[in-house]
Amino acid sequence: MTHPAAIEELMTLVDPGKVLTDPASLDAYGKDWTKHYAPAPSAIVLPKTIEQVQAIVRWANAHRVALVPSGGRTGLSAGAVAANGEVVVAFDNMNRILDFNAFDRTVVCQPGVVTRQLQSYAEAQGLYYPVDFASSGSSQIGGNIGTNAGGIKVIRYGMTRNWVAGLKVVTGKGELLQLNKDLIKNATGYDLRQLFIGAEGTLGFVVEATMRLDRAPRNLTAMVLGTPDFDSIMPVLHAFQGGLDLTAFEFFSDKGLARILARGDVPAPFATDCPFYALLEFEASTEAVANQALATFEHCVEQGWVLDGVMSQSETQLKNLWKLREYLSETISHWTPYKNDISVTVSEVPAFLRDIDAIVAEHYPDYEVVWYGHIGDGNLHLNILKPEHMDKDAFFASCAKVNKWVFEIVERYNGSISAEHGVGMTKRDYLGYSRSAEEIACMKAIKAVFDPNGIMNPGKIFAPE
Ligand SMILES: Cc1cc2nc3c(=O)[nH]c(=O)nc-3n(C[C@H](O)[C@H](O)[C@H](O)COP(=O)(O)OP(=O)(O)OC[C@H]3O[C@@H](n4cnc5c(N)ncnc54)[C@H](O)[C@@H]3O)c2cc1C
Repeated sequence: MTHPAAIEELMTLVDPGKVLTDPASLDAYGKDWTKHYAPAPSAIVLPKTIEQVQAIVRWANAHRVALVPSGGRTGLSAGAVAANGEVVVAFDNMNRILDFNAFDRTVVCQPGVVTRQLQSYAEAQGLYYPVDFASSGSSQIGGNIGTNAGGIKVIRYGMTRNWVAGLKVVTGKGELLQLNKDLIKNATGYDLRQLFIGAEGTLGFVVEATMRLDRAPRNLTAMVLGTPDFDSIMPVLHAFQGGLDLTAFEFFSDKGLARILARGDVPAPFATDCPFYALLEFEASTEAVANQALATFEHCVEQGWVLDGVMSQSETQLKNLWKLREYLSETISHWTPYKNDISVTVSEVPAFLRDIDAIVAEHYPDYEVVWYGHIGDGNLHLNILKPEHMDKDAFFASCAKVNKWVFEIVERYNGSISAEHGVGMTKRDYLGYSRSAEEIACMKAIKAVFDPNGIMNPGKIFAPE
């Protein structure tokens, strides 16, 4: 734990009352959405300015105190967890939108701006911030950049990385760097901005971000389609991509749908029971586009790939169809799920899922398995639900045993052990399944450049040595 005298000194670096050490704050700020680790930070510090962040980093280097950057703490890999006496640096007090440039279509954000806040701000300007997911009402731009968040619109708009025009960062040495200066074209060597995106706070703090916006989508329309098996989902994707620019293509299983319907506040999409469902979205900007979607639907039914389907006819129906997918993560969180967030190239998805499914069925016969994910991006979320009676630690230990086999398949398919949630602590022991030893050595060397004393979020991405 950090020495009390050092904490006293930390208090002099920020505004009065902005270092918290009460048990409730330590508990709340010491954890994220994962429930694997018990929170145990020494203190929470809430800076208000970039200069205060720099002062905190210099203090941490002087006292060799580990710092954990903390955003909305909606992370699913324990990237923002402080379980070893670290000091958590939270950005709740740096949550303002600082500037908007209509011509460049850019917004300058402090790191604590909540994702939904940016989305709403963009909407108020008649524009669109397209990175979106179920936790966007709580997650922060700093955290989104830290994880290179993806979500439900990646098939059309890409990940957070695509929307970061420029960054201000405070490195683990306390230097302030302005990266890329918001330029579209900048061929001046290494793009350090990209290194900080997805770095999970291991290189330094994002203290300001210039985010790009897009034009607002026109008449978004969703379809939910029921398929007879998983293999039918991919030809459906192919057929719709042939005629339409999809803004989303998601899937979920019947078990996921059952959990959603059991909530009682979301209507069933249609009466037919199907083992799998695809949710797709497109801009029905003209009648011709809507007709094309219906013709493709009919083609899919004729081919036997789709058993039933529905298309939204109003904003309310659009929202209700999205709830079937968007509410899944939150709904199953009640069963403390063991989560895997894996990806392969889209063409490999069917064979990959078959192989993983066989392993899961063999080793988890007694657990309920809920599949869903951003299938149009090759990203599958495998969720194993904890039986009500089972102890959490015993459950996670039994799931961890099977990880090895799941990740061996991921490696065989040249896939990723984490598509979008990050490595954090939950996947750090498995990094070698996605990255070669040489690559990991380069990554560690890069960390040493920005954070020579290893104060920035130690134990995340890389297992402690
Ligand atoms: C219901 C639900 C649904 C989700 N759906 C998706 C989804 O579809 N796609 C997806 O990608 N993710 C999803 N997530 C995961 C999560 O919301 C994202 O990873 C999000 O980007 C985390 O943002 P946060 O602000 O909560 O970050 P945190 O959890 O607080 O932190 C995440 C990481 O970023 C680092 N960090 C935070 N702030 C900074 C900063 N200022 N500078 C440097 N590093 C920083 C932290 O140290 C940590 O390593 C979901 C989570 C939930 C709970």
